[in-house]
Amino acid sequence: MESQKKYPRVYSFEFFPPKTDEGAAKLRATRNELAKLKPRFFSVTFGAGGSTRERTFDTVSEIQHDSDIEAAPHLSCVGSTKDNIREILDLYRKENIRHIVALRGDLPSGMGQPGEFRYANELVAFIRAETGDHFHIEVAAYPEFHPQAANADVDIDNFKRKVEAGADSAITQYFFNADAYFGFVDACEERGIDIPVVPGIMPITNYTQLARFSDMCGAEIPRWIRKRLEACGDDRDAIRAFGADVVTDMCQRLLDAGAPGLHFYTMNQAGPTRQIWERLNLG
Ligand code: FAD
Repeated sequence: MESQKKYPRVYSFEFFPPKTDEGAAKLRATRNELAKLKPRFFSVTFGAGGSTRERTFDTVSEIQHDSDIEAAPHLSCVGSTKDNIREILDLYRKENIRHIVALRGDLPSGMGQPGEFRYANELVAFIRAETGDHFHIEVAAYPEFHPQAANADVDIDNFKRKVEAGADSAITQYFFNADAYFGFVDACEERGIDIPVVPGIMPITNYTQLARFSDMCGAEIPRWIRKRLEACGDDRDAIRAFGADVVTDMCQRLLDAGAPGLHFYTMNQAGPTRQIWERLNLG
């Protein structure tokens, strides 16, 4: 953890682009509420294969114009051409967006070809080649390793390629085992990877949804947490109360050990993130 301690702490909140006017109004309320916590940036996801291209752009541009919090769009490259990506980067530069989360993404099932980019390191290299130092580039990191990687070592080597291509910092996939994060950053340090690796934090609000998501993205829910959540049954208040305890304790451990901030997967809800924030006394 030593190399992480030197970085200033950065707090950020992630949203997905809403599909309806009602969703957009709800997100506006959520971000107004979370803006009071003065995060460093709000990030907005990009749907698989570019499926939310316009909605991501609209959401980001609204944040950039209507709030004093910096907006950071996610951009995934799989299934795209260089021209597509160049066009999106140009649009963001015109909006004066300076911060981007660069990802490979996943091809939606049935959508055949990977396009002109195979992996996120190629996207990072492309952004640097096209735009120099205009963007602060975040990349994804996987403390419990990416589900398609043969093993943790290979995945860290691949993570290193993204850093060498020009990534400035990383946000992790969510996890519920702080030791997985500590092991990951130590392994990065041994390989000479020296950028801030900010833990991605998923508040627990809905067990069925969380279990489905976690199976897909390779995040492990420790057995003891599964058992406790299963025991809550349909009692949503009990799930939220237990989830807030578990996640707050983990965040406290991460920060005490020197993690360079926290990135919350808000799921467009202010309450669960704010509750953890307040319990951590983040001010
Ligand atoms: P990569 O870093 O390219 O890695 C993908 C896999 O390929 C890994 O197994 C890696 O080990 C392997 N690999 C990488 N480089 C090479 C190489 N050169 N040779 C061989 N193998 C290689 N998804 C979305 O669709 N939209 C989003 O907005 C979004 N936001 C995210 C935000 C965060 C913080 C995180 C952690 C994930 C996010 N995802 C998002 C999910 C992400 O797109 C998936 O996890 C995807 O499967 C991998 O993307 P990546 O950028 O990590 O890929």
